[in-house]
Amino acid sequence: MTHKILVLPGDGIGIEIIAEAKKVLDCLVADFGLSMEMEEGYIGGAGYDAEGSPYPESTQVLAKDADAILLGAVGGYQYEELPRELRPERGLLAIRSELKLFSNLRPALLYAELADASTLKPEVVANLDLMIVRELTGGIYFGQPRGIEVLDSGERRGYNTLEYTESEIERIARSAYDIAMKRDKRLCSVDKANVLEVSELWREIVTKVGADYPEVELSHMYVDNAAMQLIKDPKQFDVMVTKNMFGDILSDAAAMLTGSIGMLPSASLDAAGKGMYEPIHGSAPDIAGKDIANPLATILSVSMMLRYTLNEIELADKIENAVKAVLAKGIRTADIYQEGTQQVGTAAMGDAVVAELRG
Ligand code: NAD
Repeated sequence: MTHKILVLPGDGIGIEIIAEAKKVLDCLVADFGLSMEMEEGYIGGAGYDAEGSPYPESTQVLAKDADAILLGAVGGYQYEELPRELRPERGLLAIRSELKLFSNLRPALLYAELADASTLKPEVVANLDLMIVRELTGGIYFGQPRGIEVLDSGERRGYNTLEYTESEIERIARSAYDIAMKRDKRLCSVDKANVLEVSELWREIVTKVGADYPEVELSHMYVDNAAMQLIKDPKQFDVMVTKNMFGDILSDAAAMLTGSIGMLPSASLDAAGKGMYEPIHGSAPDIAGKDIANPLATILSVSMMLRYTLNEIELADKIENAVKAVLAKGIRTADIYQEGTQQVGTAAMGDAVVAELRG
């Protein structure tokens, strides 16, 4: 089967890190039988420069047609004065909502070699490998009514609505169970069912969907306890699934357990498992064009794409093992450099991963 992949480098270091991810994909095609067609498009500031829109028509057509999308990053100082609807970040929001990418996958993984980069004790975080599945298009960030009103007393009142329908809960639950099936088959649903009715419904539906996944071990945890457990003993978790706002907060906390922004991939999936894959970091204009950005978050995004959308599990494993081997050899970009290791640039890091893949 030939996979259709759309590559959107975007802005800043997006261009350099995507170039390294493409080297890895090209190697999988040449040496390991991956069958793919790759298209390239504009997004963010690059979309504005080329076609006057952060999510141009031409990219919309390619995105709809693709099986999976690999994105670099968007944003840059030169776009900061643009009207809000033309800013690069709008391109990201537009593509996510247009493609109905409601399931946000945020892994936190920390290779033993980099355990010193965490602010937690190495033994707490070394070999950490957890996945947070965050509902991305519902909940309190979108619920109606919302607003700020003036009361009769003259005092202002701000309000938002936390709401989920049964079908919204069911589809994020299914997405999370599917992910758990590809991992250690343990799912922890995080809610606040002791206080919130919407969480009661959440818990009920997540449990009900579990009947279709008898191999997955389900547990429930209140969000305040989950926050504590993430810091105390993060390795107890395999997959966590939670609402938009809880996931927003917990996934950033989990990312920081690893201490290195240049190492973390992410994905956003639709109901059919089609997805957009991207590093969690931004376009880093401060280091763009200097050949110092870490391309590993983007290369690991390729591995996630192979695992969760394209079902090429062996190739996904190959990439992750190659990254591990490169780190074990002490090869590092500047952001993860430690004394006694060898510092290399963006392109050399990509080459090192490809060399490992080729064995
Ligand atoms: P950033 O993630 O771009 O950079 C934060 C810091 O981390 C910078 O010091 C940067 O040099 C460093 N960094 C980031 N990625 C790195 C990598 N791969 N290797 C080494 N160092 C790396 O966040 P920011 O500075 O707040 O934002 C810069 C621009 O990116 C803004 O325009 C912002 O809107 C945009 N942004 C885009 C995304 C995205 O595309 N998904 C996400 C966040 C921010």
